[in-house]
Parts: sequence; C-alpha cells; structure tokens
Amino acid sequence: MTHFKMIKPGDLFVTHNTGLQITEEAHCAHGQAAVMLLLFGRFRSGQGAERLDALLPRCVLAEMVGSLHAQILRDEGAASLQRFQDEVATYAEQSAAALEQLHRQHRDCCEAGFRTNGAEHTCGRTDTGADRE
Ligand SMILES: [Zn+2]
Repeated sequence: MTHFKMIKPGDLFVTHNTGLQITEEAHCAHGQAAVMLLLFGRFRSGQGAERLDALLPRCVLAEMVGSLHAQILRDEGAASLQRFQDEVATYAEQSAAALEQLHRQHRDCCEAGFRTNGAEHTCGRTDTGADRE
C-alpha cells in the first residue's frame, strides 16, 4: 500500500467534517460489518459543499491505518507514532463516553430518539427517556 506515495493527487476532496458508523449494509469476507465514512467538504474544482458516503470493509480500514502507522514511523519516527497512537486512544475514550451518554439518554436507537432526546421513537421502543436522571 505504501507505493501509493508515488501517485499524484487528482481532484482532491477537501473535508471539513467527518463521521463514521459501523453498518450492516455490507460485510467483508471475514464476516465483519463494513464501515461507512461520511465526508463533508468540497472538491477543489467544485463550487459548494458536498457529502461523500463511502463504504469501506473494516479489514481494509485496518490495513490503511496500519499503513499510516508505518508511514508515520518511517517519515517522522517512533515518538510521532506514539503521539498519534495516544491521540487515537484519547479519541476512543471520548467517543466511548459519548456513546454511553447517548445510550443512557435513550438516543442511540433511532433518528427520532436522537432528535427528541429520547422522548419519541420510530424504532418501536416504548420506554422513553422521560425517567432518566
Ligand atoms: Zn428509538
């Protein structure tokens, strides 16, 4: 994968906001659910803001992250790689706390639940977040 370094960029999609979710839309040969990447930004040649939704097998994402680790290590050294890995760990903790909070608020099951702070649901859930602390 490192030979991609030789490839000149095309019309770059410059992102200003991103998100991802594990999705049952597709599974790789290992049976793992794919990752949907949501990229908000614009093409350098384009006019306004656009959204790109990309479906990525999780094993491919692991390979990409591994390649990124190797490139940071080779180009910037072990200390830079350690800083990057520490950042990933910090974001993983923050994200886990945010997911736990959404779960406690009954907002992690459907879009209606998310938007109404758990008061209304389109997923069939009957217990609302009304009694939450
Ligand atoms: Zn719901």
